[in-house]
Amino acid sequence: MSCLFCKIVEGAIPSTPVYQDPLCYAFADIHPQAPVHVLVVPREHIASMIETDQSDQALLGHLLLAAAEIARNKGLGDGYRIVVNTGNDGGQTVDHLHLHLLGGRAMTWPPG
Ligand code: 5GP
Ligand code: ZN
Repeated sequence: MSCLFCKIVEGAIPSTPVYQDPLCYAFADIHPQAPVHVLVVPREHIASMIETDQSDQALLGHLLLAAAEIARNKGLGDGYRIVVNTGNDGGQTVDHLHLHLLGGRAMTWPPG
């Protein structure tokens, strides 16, 4: 098993935990792009949004709600951004589905 985020979920590679439950694990991004930068990943290996289908509906909703709960716990009442880079054109660099939760500063738009 060679997936970086699977190894992080298993604890084989260390990370700074932020939140966990039976379906997902959230940890601090190693190269934070904002004062709060958390990655929320499903424990199950799914490569990207490209691989998802209707059977993932509940899990995908769960990931979004987990990110919103983390944002509340981090005091991001003024707002935040949730990003899911997908595939080559989407700028995805780790092929295990993940939500970026970014906050603690004002974001700009459009992204690069
Ligand atoms: P992507 O570019 O695929 O959307 O996001 C991958 C994210 O994973 C990047 O923000 C990168 O900083 C983060 N990352 C890559 N390797 C590691 C690691 O070993 N540990 C942690 N905590 N984050 C990582
Ligand atoms: Zn994986």
